[in-house]
Amino acid sequence: MLASMDARVTLAEVDRRLADLYGDPQPEQHEPLDLLVRTILSQNTSDRNRDRAYASLRARFPTWEDVLGATPQEIADAIQGAGLHKQRAERILSVLQLIVQKQGALSLDFLRNLTPEEAEQWLLSLPGVGKKTAYIVLLMGYAIPRFPVDTHVARVTQRLGVRPASGEPHAVLAPLIPQGRQLPLHLNLINLGRQVCVARRPRCPQCPLPDLCDYVMAKADPRLRANLRAGETSAVLVRRGDGVQTMRPDREELLAILSDPMVHSVEASGTLSTKEVA
Ligand code: SF4
Repeated sequence: MLASMDARVTLAEVDRRLADLYGDPQPEQHEPLDLLVRTILSQNTSDRNRDRAYASLRARFPTWEDVLGATPQEIADAIQGAGLHKQRAERILSVLQLIVQKQGALSLDFLRNLTPEEAEQWLLSLPGVGKKTAYIVLLMGYAIPRFPVDTHVARVTQRLGVRPASGEPHAVLAPLIPQGRQLPLHLNLINLGRQVCVARRPRCPQCPLPDLCDYVMAKADPRLRANLRAGETSAVLVRRGDGVQTMRPDREELLAILSDPMVHSVEASGTLSTKEVA
């Protein structure tokens, strides 16, 4: 785990490289209330299940007034694909009811007239709405600089070593994000998490970040990590599932070796025992 200054520098470089790879992506345009319901549907389920359930909900109930007039069972039937559909149906219904009770209309447009802090607190006061959901609505619906941490962002930032496994991730990451880069960095970390840094077996050989990543660098002994930082090369001992091998790779080759899922550890030659060198 990096100190916060190092983590800030690392995240700035991560942002730069991911922007080179994916560009500055633009999110799909949704009304803030659509974003809120869509994000409630995404809690603890896959992106695919969320998209399917949301499309089914909108097909069955074209307006939020239609959803408000439906029974929990009818809503649950429409969002079955999302899992926990009865619980989610009740949550969506109570959120819509509360918005009408508090604001007299089924819309979140009034949030524009609040300060960012007030808008955040208002969203967090809704049942079942935590920081991830509130921040997605604020960032994508109102361009308010908040950094939502979903499952992909949480996994990638932990593997990179810019945040610890424990602790509230929004509080840890918010001060580390380069100014004004919340949206593209959020979307690009999701892209990386979906396509490369996947949950089960990260595809490190395809990743542009191995030299910045704790998950990869943990395989290198401390002396080798120091050499890499200093731009120096050395002979190394590579331990794979099928044996050990001595090599003298250049920097790019060494990063490829460290990214190889079959490699368990790599040591600088000076740390090898006499027996191993022989
Ligand atoms: S190097 Fe591997 S573990 Fe690290 S961010 Fe990339 S894919 Fe994930």
